Amino acid sequence: MEDISKMSCVDCSVGNCNFMDKSFPQFCPTVNTIDEEKRDEIKNIYEEEENRKCMLSAAMVEYEGYGKTTRIEEIMEFARKMGFKKIGIANCLGLIKEAGTLGKILRYNGFEVVGYGCKIGCIPKVEIGIPEECNAVGKNICNPILQAKMLNEAKTELNIVVGLCVGHDSLFYKYSDALVTTAVTKDRILGHNPVAALYGADFYFKKRMYPPKEDK
Ligand code: SF4
Repeated sequence: MEDISKMSCVDCSVGNCNFMDKSFPQFCPTVNTIDEEKRDEIKNIYEEEENRKCMLSAAMVEYEGYGKTTRIEEIMEFARKMGFKKIGIANCLGLIKEAGTLGKILRYNGFEVVGYGCKIGCIPKVEIGIPEECNAVGKNICNPILQAKMLNEAKTELNIVVGLCVGHDSLFYKYSDALVTTAVTKDRILGHNPVAALYGADFYFKKRMYPPKEDK
């Protein structure tokens, strides 16, 4: 018997919280833990000016382009609806060509663009305590904090992540003053399409996603 106190949306197979035309599972947080007070508290946060504008713009982009527009087009449409003119790009050096293409597309479509690659500043990994063996895949650090600070100084209104590494992206999100959206999520072996590992988790990637557990 599963312990329902440990279950959450990742354990749900009905997804009744959108159209509400089925039943909520027994452990559903919507019915068990989220009361009117919590709902009101969250609704109030959406009332804050930037949040409200962001939610309305995102909803319209989703509605108008549903199943029709690419993510790159959706990012531009979102920026237009938000009234943003100046866009920042924070890219992985390994995706500098794609970042260049994105910059070209954005400029063609009327946006001002500034972008910084991940190795900016050329700080050796060993200088911040990263083990020397990591130099095998690059001598200098990926520098998401500097990328964010440079874009903050440039006063970009929306920043776009292009393939930053896991964890480097986390720090970029943390230090960016502007809202951030992601155009490319890095996955070096799946063509930057990490969901493929989930699609294949029960077959092609089964042994890697569910490695045998050692007996303790
Ligand atoms: S909120 Fe409830 S119905 Fe919706 S995904 Fe979570 S558990 Fe399922």
